[in-house]
Amino acid sequence: MDDPTRREFAAILLPGGLVARPRKPVPTMLRKDFEPAYLKLERTGELAERARALWAIYKSCRLCPRQCGVNRLKGEKGVCGATSRVKVASAHPHFGEERPLVGRWGSGTIFFSHCNLLCCFCQNWEIAHRGDGSYMSDEMLGRLMVQLQEMRCHNINLVTPTHVVPNIVQALRTAIRLGLRIPLVYNCGGYEPVEIIKLLDGIVDIYMPDFKYMDGAMAAKYSSGASDYPERAAAAIEEMHRQVGELVVDENGIALRGLIIRHLVLPNNIAGTDKFVRWVAEKLSKSTYVNIMAQYRPEHKAFQYPELSRRITWTEYQQALRWAREAGLTRLDQDS
Ligand code: SF4
Repeated sequence: MDDPTRREFAAILLPGGLVARPRKPVPTMLRKDFEPAYLKLERTGELAERARALWAIYKSCRLCPRQCGVNRLKGEKGVCGATSRVKVASAHPHFGEERPLVGRWGSGTIFFSHCNLLCCFCQNWEIAHRGDGSYMSDEMLGRLMVQLQEMRCHNINLVTPTHVVPNIVQALRTAIRLGLRIPLVYNCGGYEPVEIIKLLDGIVDIYMPDFKYMDGAMAAKYSSGASDYPERAAAAIEEMHRQVGELVVDENGIALRGLIIRHLVLPNNIAGTDKFVRWVAEKLSKSTYVNIMAQYRPEHKAFQYPELSRRITWTEYQQALRWAREAGLTRLDQDS
């Protein structure tokens, strides 16, 4: 890139004397040229194969790194507490997600009940821990996806999908038959086995994982013993990046395909934000779309841990952003 002019240089000066790098152009594709990946897989018959392969895993569940080995087809429950029947807590256009997902008409969000990570500070603990929600058939789930598309949502945003992936892929086949053609967003906690993410290659267009901790001891303490979280999340996100690459948007800035990583800043740098941003810059790319989130508030059992029992301070958040810029990240979410 040419040297910036003085005016451009002034425009990229940040408070505190930090200088942001000039932004790279955002990868863009015309909406009319976009076809969701899953349509091709359905045409070749591969989607039916994947649905069968995923469904078979329910016999001895290893959908997430907890590897419970329970037979969910017989109603047995592992750490997440879910059987093979999908339960949905709510579904609606959501306007609080990242701007490229929300656009004008919202992100078509489906919140699944139960969760494989079970964090002590969960803000949706009634849904994630207690499993509040309603059972529905996979056929109904597919119809729900199409209804969200009919409401003009820009995508189907699958929130906490990890433990119900077989139902989702089965439902997707119904939805395709009924005309679904908006991108699927896999909005997960990051605690995913690479083998399962590989089975989603060509099904998911947009991955939106959290990367919550860089230290296994923190993950074990605050997320129900998930001590291998950092390495599992790192491997899964690298595979997601390999599959879909950087976030591509249409001519209106609406996300079509790619990776968005969320990182919630925790008090006392429990999340390891400095290590996280360096990892993104070194292992993925500096222009990865990253949302550094400030909205932590103590919920559920967080008050049992004094170090987690407060919101983050303004100084902590500014420090997190400084680390991101020092690592060279150039595509932070606008609301970061
Ligand atoms: S998805 Fe649930 S049952 Fe399956 S391995 Fe994970 S926690 Fe255990």
